[in-house]
Amino acid sequence: MNTILKNAVSSIQIGVEDFKKAEKNKSSDRVISAVRNIYAGILLLFKEKLQRLSPSYDKELLIKSKNKYVKDTNGNVIVKSYGNKTVNFFDIKERFESLNIDVNWDVMEKIQKIRNDLEHYFTSSTEENILQILSNTFIILDDFIVRHLEEYPGDLLGNITWDYIINKKEIYIKLKNEWEKQSNSLNFSNRVIAENIEYAYCPDCGFDIFFVDDSEKKQENPKLICKACGNEFGYEKYKYTIIKHFSSEDNEDYEKDLYDCPCCGERAYHYEENICLSCDSEDNNCCKCGKKMEKTVMDGNMDQECSDCMDFDRALEKDD
Ligand SMILES: [Zn+2]
Ligand SMILES: [Zn+2]
Ligand SMILES: [Zn+2]
Repeated sequence: MNTILKNAVSSIQIGVEDFKKAEKNKSSDRVISAVRNIYAGILLLFKEKLQRLSPSYDKELLIKSKNKYVKDTNGNVIVKSYGNKTVNFFDIKERFESLNIDVNWDVMEKIQKIRNDLEHYFTSSTEENILQILSNTFIILDDFIVRHLEEYPGDLLGNITWDYIINKKEIYIKLKNEWEKQSNSLNFSNRVIAENIEYAYCPDCGFDIFFVDDSEKKQENPKLICKACGNEFGYEKYKYTIIKHFSSEDNEDYEKDLYDCPCCGERAYHYEENICLSCDSEDNNCCKCGKKMEKTVMDGNMDQECSDCMDFDRALEKDD
């Protein structure tokens, strides 16, 4: 095993050991170091891929953040790396994208956010935070190691480490299923929000499993309580996390993008479902002729007119 891969593996292994200690001592310091190690380990796996793709004349070409054009011994122009700086998260993302190496960036950004928010983040339940990080880590590792490094995660990371990650992922899925079942019986004023409540996440800590107090169960748009940090959120707060999901580029339903709502002005109008996720308005009709406005004219269209009516107005102005 080369150095980058070896460091990646040991970083992930140490991270998992940190998690085990954190669970045992209920210590949030350990969680912090666990997340740092796991995050660093994943980035090293990505760098391993970049090294494998680097040409034999410069095995650091894709890992170094800077490169320059030079002439080789035959006078041909080639690209070479220089300096000590290696690629960061954004460089890696950019290089992978141009090389068609697909990574679930939505999940990766979640892990990165947790890593960056560490200090004010782990004030609460250690156990749920571990579940959240490792279930996301599982998705990245399981996919990346098999498809892009052509290895088996259990072989590469060792079975002790990998089994621990799988186990946490399974507990997470069980909790998530329970929450989804409970959320089906709840009452939301907006049908699209109701259907997509699984994408709601805690605005404070990012965890995406909630529960509802008995007193709230019969209410419309009930308050949700985050299972990780215990904070309670009203509809206005968690609604925005679902709107954010719809406007994310990594969302599979990206084509069903959101448009500016003619009623409230928020970029929250779900065109296919014909409803605004923010104000619940189901009216995106032209205020002149009553026809449904086209997607292309919705954005920033304060006059709320369809393209036919706009053309007509313009023609009239010319006549004047
Ligand atoms: Zn929370
Ligand atoms: Zn609206
Ligand atoms: Zn019209």
